[in-house]
Amino acid sequence: MSRIRILPEILSNKIAAGEVVERPASVVKELIENSLDAGSTRIVVEVEKGGRSLIRISDNGSGMSRDDALLSIERYATSKLYSDSDLFAIDTLGFRGEALPSIASVSKLTLVTREETAESGTEIVLEGGKLLKVLETGSPCGTQVTVKHLFFNTPARQKFLKTIPTEMGHISDVISNMALGWPKIHFKLIHNGSVLQNWSAAADPAGRITDILGKDFSTGLFPIKSENDGVSLSGWMSLPRITRASSQGIFVFVNGRVVRNRMVQHALIQAYGGRLMKGQFPLAVLFIKVPCDEVDVNVHPSKQEIRFSRQQHIYDAIVAAVSAGLVHEEKPSWTPAKVHGPTTLSENLVRAENKYPYTVPASGNGAPAMGSGLKPAPASTPTPLPDPPAPFRPPRPTNQPQLWEKPQTVHLNPIGQFFNSYIICESGENLILLDQHAAHERILYEKLADNSMERRIPVQRLLIPETLDLGYRQALILEKLIPDLCRYGIEIDLFGKDSFVIKSVPMVLSGREIKPLVIEMVDHIMETGLTANMEKSLDACLKLMACHGAIRANQSLTLEEMATVIKDLEACRIPAHCPHGRPTWIQWPKQEIERLFKRT
Ligand code: ADP
Ligand code: MG
Repeated sequence: MSRIRILPEILSNKIAAGEVVERPASVVKELIENSLDAGSTRIVVEVEKGGRSLIRISDNGSGMSRDDALLSIERYATSKLYSDSDLFAIDTLGFRGEALPSIASVSKLTLVTREETAESGTEIVLEGGKLLKVLETGSPCGTQVTVKHLFFNTPARQKFLKTIPTEMGHISDVISNMALGWPKIHFKLIHNGSVLQNWSAAADPAGRITDILGKDFSTGLFPIKSENDGVSLSGWMSLPRITRASSQGIFVFVNGRVVRNRMVQHALIQAYGGRLMKGQFPLAVLFIKVPCDEVDVNVHPSKQEIRFSRQQHIYDAIVAAVSAGLVHEEKPSWTPAKVHGPTTLSENLVRAENKYPYTVPASGNGAPAMGSGLKPAPASTPTPLPDPPAPFRPPRPTNQPQLWEKPQTVHLNPIGQFFNSYIICESGENLILLDQHAAHERILYEKLADNSMERRIPVQRLLIPETLDLGYRQALILEKLIPDLCRYGIEIDLFGKDSFVIKSVPMVLSGREIKPLVIEMVDHIMETGLTANMEKSLDACLKLMACHGAIRANQSLTLEEMATVIKDLEACRIPAHCPHGRPTWIQWPKQEIERLFKRT
């Protein structure tokens, strides 16, 4: 007897569900995609117990006839794809014909649907993929899919479900993403009977951005718009001063589909040139429209990854549009302002060229006398040098001795500052460079940690409390952090839905902007997960506080201030490293310097 068998359909659907339906949020995503493909303008998502017990999506789209409704629950049944060639020119969100049968195979699913022209609707009831009932029913025009007891028949999957707030966080992310990409559609999210989100159709996508990502997100955004050889770009980007420590504030839509794409992300960052600090990301909501046959969406079961056929063209278009937008925003205010707002790419490019009228100095023209082997700054076109002397090789700092690891300390005498960023010190026979930011970070980190244990962080009440609007998921995290942040001197109150008010800050942060710090903490925890290890999350918060409060690079210090930094650093438990592990200082022994000068 043959050992190979064709799998029964219910089993193969369950296997497909393994790919398509990872958690309640994936059900919500697939069903909303179906509603959008059906031309709905209003989509209501009802959820109970984080989607474990109920997910119901109701739309006012095209609806289905009885025959189509019965077909829709069959595997590989789709109205969106008829031929080979269609697969490479997909203009709908769905196309695999897998979602409904997959979801039905791992839940108790009820589908109620009616086409506008039909007198009555159809109700189909399935359990674990088995068809139980088909009825004629009265129903409004459109479709309602109810998914109860997800994974009731796949306990292994059920075990992987996280807490209700975590699952709700994922669901809310899905809906926020969809709503950002489809601003003209009314979205409503209800959890356990209470309305969590209600975003009515927005005429202007910018309004939707504010609705979803909060007012704080939208201030400091500039629009971009370009149309070039079939590729159209539009959206909003943040000014370089508004950044995040992760790419979570970057939302990219390709033909209406939310995607993660490294190339696009890289192009966005590239466009900022040197304006972003290392490790910082801009905020962005970017809509890319390309001809359907130039994007392959059939790369990943959940359709979040895509491939462009003209990668380079799209990359260049993004870099050009965003950098032109940046240049436009950075225009000095005294130039007669033309239209502010979306401009055409060519207009922007003309401005971009006018903005930096660099003339490259001709060889020898105004350049400092050569011979030192050092390049003139700013670097111009390479000037031919007379016989180059031996290349200047800076002395390699010696490996850091254990000297400054506790308990011994050395006495450092500040001499001055290098680049307003490093404190130059002498200490016995050594020349020492201290990274002022890293050193101060270490000092603040230890102080904050010690004082928070004893609950005596000196605080400053803000004269005008600062309000902070966050997205749903961020708000959940911040709410949880409130008591601990209070211990750290950051007093925050919940102030209406997803809004907070910051009332006091620790003294070490006085005069510093507090909102970016709080947002960075929340984003960090969003990336690493809060429940996994609370202590670790809080330690990360302390590190961020120390980083935000510390003396910056490029800050000039008096000798007294330098001496204070040195004294405080000497008092630290781990003075040789900043809280992130970077060295706070490097040294060159006199002997090494003398050897380089060929004195010995
Ligand atoms: P796909 O979306 O990949 O085609 P699905 O299994 O998600 O596959 O859906 C199968 C078919 O059912 C769709 O092609 C569509 O014709 C129909 N359908 C599903 N949901 C809806 C809806 N909300 N409104 C109208 N038709 C729908
Ligand atoms: Mg679908």
